[in-house]
Amino acid sequence: MPRISDRWSHFGTSIFSVMTLKAQATNSINLAQGFPDFDGPETVKEAAIAAIRAGNNQYAPAPGLPRLRQLIADRRTSTGNGSYDWNEEVTIFSGATEALFCALQGLFDPGDEILAFEPLYDSYIAGAHSCGAKIIGIPLAPPSFSFTATDLEKNISKNTRAILVNSPHNPTGRVFNASELEVIRDFAVAHDLLVLTDEVYEELVYAPNVFKSLANLPGMRERTVAISSTAKTFSFTGWKVGFAFAPPHLTKLLRAVHQFTVFCSATPLQHGMVVALEVGQKYYDELRLDYIRRRDLLLASLATAGFRPAVPEGSYFIIADYSRLSDEDDRSFAFRLSEEAGVATIPLSPFYVDEAVARESLRYLRFAFCKGLDTLRAAGARLNSFSGGTHPIGKVR
Ligand code: PMP
Ligand code: GLN
Repeated sequence: MPRISDRWSHFGTSIFSVMTLKAQATNSINLAQGFPDFDGPETVKEAAIAAIRAGNNQYAPAPGLPRLRQLIADRRTSTGNGSYDWNEEVTIFSGATEALFCALQGLFDPGDEILAFEPLYDSYIAGAHSCGAKIIGIPLAPPSFSFTATDLEKNISKNTRAILVNSPHNPTGRVFNASELEVIRDFAVAHDLLVLTDEVYEELVYAPNVFKSLANLPGMRERTVAISSTAKTFSFTGWKVGFAFAPPHLTKLLRAVHQFTVFCSATPLQHGMVVALEVGQKYYDELRLDYIRRRDLLLASLATAGFRPAVPEGSYFIIADYSRLSDEDDRSFAFRLSEEAGVATIPLSPFYVDEAVARESLRYLRFAFCKGLDTLRAAGARLNSFSGGTHPIGKVR
């Protein structure tokens, strides 16, 4: 047999795929993988179809369609999150996932350490692994899921090169406030670190919380790569049109990797996203209002069914403590909930560098509320009948 590398052999199937397959096998309502069960605007679909019909079917410029990059830079500026040169500092990627991968490949060497708040999105560990770097988890401790300067300082080593931040945060729904962002900024400046900030849920932030890009704080612009995506904002997760803002010396390296990874992202879908980015502010306001309705409905259903949900400040996820319903570890409980209640969720432990330790101590599931109100109502009813209609708490366990 030819020898093959075992560098990737310890990566199994992502929990998002595992739980979607489980949902299909058990006929469950899928509140697991974070994708909307509705499509984004018809005009956007029509624009992509028209682009195909008009013959926009060959390679796009590797950094992305100029018009799309201009509109993305304009939106950043109009939300008060910085001013970027669309040509030199904005790049289109095949999803935020590819942007993260290119940033990790392009900016780090074997042995480098990258601090990242836990729980964390699974692609960070894999992306760092692919260039020989290592993610060091900084725990966001329940129930506040916040951190202090000391939590950061005690994880610094001579190999620390960067901090990777995700706000609005998947899975907790936290949106870091101004003082938390300043703690990160002071720390990054003091240790002269690179900063990667994953902002894919930037448009899904619920009042009174506000989205402020870490990249736009004084001292940050030159050291920061801000990564986002059209996936959540326009409800087209399968189109995989992501983007990144970075100063030219960092953009150059991201683009070097991008050109040898995919070269360019799908041309007609970029044309579709041009029309998406031309929507007015009303679109974003309505999107948020729709998500607040979905969030509040699911929060109420979870509480009624005996869970203890944390109110998300942003994103389309709710994490909920289930310790009043079961002593099982989160993976076992998520599987049983899918089998017995018909609702698929994501256990929290796969979001930790040391998943086994997290599984011992945490009793949380993540529920996605990027679903129609009827779907969420049906899920609430199923959870309630599973737990025995438990509010007031008396009937739980
Ligand atoms: N980062 C986070 C925190 C996410 O939740 C997701 C979810 N899809 C991504 C990155 C990837 O985004 P994309 O689908 O645009 O690759
Ligand atoms: N970001 C989505 C989530 O957290 C899923 C992305 C994926 O399936 N890889 O559910």
